[in-house]
Amino acid sequence: PPPNSTSDDCQGTAATPHIVLFPSAGMGHLVPFTRLAVALSAGHCCDVSLVTALPTVSSAESCHIAALFAAFPAVRRLDLRLAPLDASSEFPGADPFYVRYEALRRSTPLLLGPLLAGASASALVADIALASVAIPVARELRVPCYVFFTASATMLSFKAYFPTYLDANGGAGHSVGDVDVPGVCRVPRSSIPQALHDPDDIFTRQFVANGRALVAADGLLVNAFEAMEPEAVAALLGGSVVASLPPVFAVGPLMPLNLREAAEEQGNYRAWLDAQPPRSVVYVSFGSRKALARDQIRELAAWLEACGHRFLWVVKGAVVDRDDACELSDLLGEGFQRRVEGRGLVTKSWVEQDEVLRHPAVGLFVSHCGWNSVTEAAANGVPVLAWPRFADQRVNARVVARAGFGVWVERWSWEGEEAVVGAEEIAEQVVAAMGDQAVAEKAASVRDEAARAVADGGTSQQSLAEFVRRCRGGL
Ligand code: UDP
Ligand code: UDP
Repeated sequence: PPPNSTSDDCQGTAATPHIVLFPSAGMGHLVPFTRLAVALSAGHCCDVSLVTALPTVSSAESCHIAALFAAFPAVRRLDLRLAPLDASSEFPGADPFYVRYEALRRSTPLLLGPLLAGASASALVADIALASVAIPVARELRVPCYVFFTASATMLSFKAYFPTYLDANGGAGHSVGDVDVPGVCRVPRSSIPQALHDPDDIFTRQFVANGRALVAADGLLVNAFEAMEPEAVAALLGGSVVASLPPVFAVGPLMPLNLREAAEEQGNYRAWLDAQPPRSVVYVSFGSRKALARDQIRELAAWLEACGHRFLWVVKGAVVDRDDACELSDLLGEGFQRRVEGRGLVTKSWVEQDEVLRHPAVGLFVSHCGWNSVTEAAANGVPVLAWPRFADQRVNARVVARAGFGVWVERWSWEGEEAVVGAEEIAEQVVAAMGDQAVAEKAASVRDEAARAVADGGTSQQSLAEFVRRCRGGL
């Protein structure tokens, strides 16, 4: 792991660029941003500031921010006080994280300029969800603006191409079918993020505006590496996705920070994992937010109870953790935890997922395929049983299956489709995946490729170094 503060080799000089990082919301965005902050600060001797929009949407974000600044004092903190956005009337029932993107997007024209000027920033790295609003502010101040895409290279190519697709197919109001991303792949209609079928959805509007804005950025960073997504990375670097895309820097997989923020850990999963035999535990997690409907949770519980495997299951009961008031027994049924005691551990708390995936006891990851989870599985060589739920997750599941370190049962439903996947069907796939030697070998080789990419002289390490050189040049 990188040192916890600016190392002795990083004496500030006149040529030290000051890079301001501006994440949007949700752990899926904050986690890779903090990894990037530390890679730039400790690994590449940059002066780094992280914009923290307050109050955060989830308590996981505020814990993570506190742990980051405690462990890495060299990273500077730029607090941004956000006025509350009354979204209830404008976007009834919208995802609270997308509402936060919207609040940030509306505040950016007013608040970002003074923040950048006050910090004497030499470059801005804006979250993809803020791209179309952040780029003009930076341009006005003549600060180079890079966009960090926190998901896969395949999804970045889709996003960059999607506005062209819409324009060629009757405009934003028309229905979306299969999308052929030039030089990358066909994204079938069934894998397109659900929201994009509704042109008026808050997510769609942001997605299209940000997609159109990419050509105006000074460069794009993506948490991806060639060996896992060869076609997408090659197409993005080679310029075949859309004309005049700026330089793309594939810098993944960004390395975890070992913040060990789950200090008041519940359920004692570390000690429990230590007591399990190698490769025996199925780790089940659908990310940092609620992803499964109640009846699907029950079916999963029925399988875990019947299957005989050891398991660690992280259950989230609400989209925003602060709203998650229900008890595990409400979700799983009375007595579940007692009946699986010793063999299985269920928790609603935060676990340090990268630490779990690194643990020798873990043999399989049943994952929703949020991109951070995919990169963490890859970096640790853990085979994946992909069970995407929404947004970009089917695109990511395809990446996993194509790279060969996991399997994806394409007929399994995702959010918005009625069918519940039954316990026997889950059992069948898990048994097959646990016993699949080819997948296990591929997982080990993907892990080695990931390590090579970020090691000295590796493709991702060199891309990040080139990005830093450009930031220096911009001084
Ligand atoms: N995560 C974690 N502990 C949890 C839940 C999530 O450490 O209990 C981390 C996970 O390792 C990943 C991030 O939170 O880095 C979630 O991002 P991802 O893209 O996988 O999914 P999302 O939560 O955005 O759907
Ligand atoms: N996303 C995007 N443009 C946007 C907002 C989100 O491309 O304007 C991407 C985002 O990077 C991710 C996917 O859409 O790949 C799903 O959105 P989000 O990250 O909000 O969901 P999460 O991963 O947090 O569950």
